[in-house]
Amino acid sequence: MKKHIRNAVYRTLHYSGLSAALVKTAAKPFGKNSCIILVYHRIVDDSSVYLDKGSVVHHHLSDFVDEIPYLKRTFQILSMDDIVDRISSGEGFDRPTIAITFDDGYLDNYTLAYPVLKAHEVPATIYLATSLIGTSGKTWTDQIEVALLATKKRSIVLPFLYEGKELAISTVEQKRDLSISVAKALKEIPDADRRGRLLEMFRALEVRADIIEDPDGRLMLNWDEVKEMAANGITFGSHSHTHPILSRVPLLDAQEDIKRSKQVLEERLGQPINHFAYPNGRVEDFSDELRDYCQKIGFSSVATVIYGTNGTESSPFCLKRVGAVSPLWMMSGELMRYFV
Ligand SMILES: [Zn+2]
Repeated sequence: MKKHIRNAVYRTLHYSGLSAALVKTAAKPFGKNSCIILVYHRIVDDSSVYLDKGSVVHHHLSDFVDEIPYLKRTFQILSMDDIVDRISSGEGFDRPTIAITFDDGYLDNYTLAYPVLKAHEVPATIYLATSLIGTSGKTWTDQIEVALLATKKRSIVLPFLYEGKELAISTVEQKRDLSISVAKALKEIPDADRRGRLLEMFRALEVRADIIEDPDGRLMLNWDEVKEMAANGITFGSHSHTHPILSRVPLLDAQEDIKRSKQVLEERLGQPINHFAYPNGRVEDFSDELRDYCQKIGFSSVATVIYGTNGTESSPFCLKRVGAVSPLWMMSGELMRYFV
C-alpha cells in the first residue's frame, strides 16, 4: 500500500476509534499470542540537541504524553516479569497486551518519560548499558551525533564511506543523513575496527575529545535516578556493559560484557536482574551461544528487535519487540496491523 493511502487509513481508523476496537475484537483469534513489547530509546523535547533519527530513537514527549493513556485504555500493560511468567507458564495473554521498554538508559527516561509513566501508573522496563550509567560517557552513535553538531567543518572525507567522496555537512539534514550512514557502516565491522574509524571521523571533524565527553552534556542516567525509579514501578534490565554489537566481538569478551553488566546492576540495586536486551538486537547482532549464555547466567528473558508479537509459542530467550512509532494515529495503526 502506498504510504499516503496507508496514513489516511490509519488516521481515519484511529480518530473514529476503530483501530482500538479492531485490536480488542480481532485479538481474540490470536488469543495467547497477543503480546507486543514496545521499544523506545530517548524521549526528547528540544530538537536543537540531537539529530532526529525518527521516533524509535528520538521520540517526542508530546507524542509520548498522548500514547500512554491510549495504550492503557486499549491494551493491558504488564511488566516484563509478568510477561515472562505468562509465557513460561503457558497461560499466555487473554487480552491484547503491551509491555513498554526503553533501551540504553537515557537521562530523559527519568526527566521526561518517568513522570508520565508514574502519573498513569504504567509499568516499564529500562535496559541499561551499565558502563555509561553515572558517567558523562555516550554510546558511540551519540558520540557521532555530538561531534557532527559541534563541528565547524562544512564537508568531510571519510575513507571508509562512499569510497572517500567529499560529503557536505553544512545543514542539519546532511549531518543527520551522514550520522545514519556512518552508524550503518560501522555496525557491520568488528568492534575493534569500529573504534579506529570513529577516531578517524572525530579527527576529520576537528572536534576535541572533551566536547564529545562533556560532563555538562550528560545524556545517560545516574545511579540515584535509577534507584529512585526502581523503587517506583520501573524494572531495570541489562543491555550489556559497554554496548558493543555483541556478534562483532569475540564470544568470550561478549559473554564477559554481559555478565559484568548483570553483576553491576545487581550490586547497585541489591536485587536479581532478570531481563536482558541485545544492543542493536537484529538477527545478525546476536547468536545461539549468546542466548544460551544469558540463560545460563540466570536471566529469565532476552529481548531482540525482531518485530512481531509474543505468546505461549515464543521462547522467553528470543522475545520480539516493536519500535514505538509516532504520532499516535501511526502507532495505533501499526499496532492494529499485528492483530488484523
Ligand atoms: Zn542500545
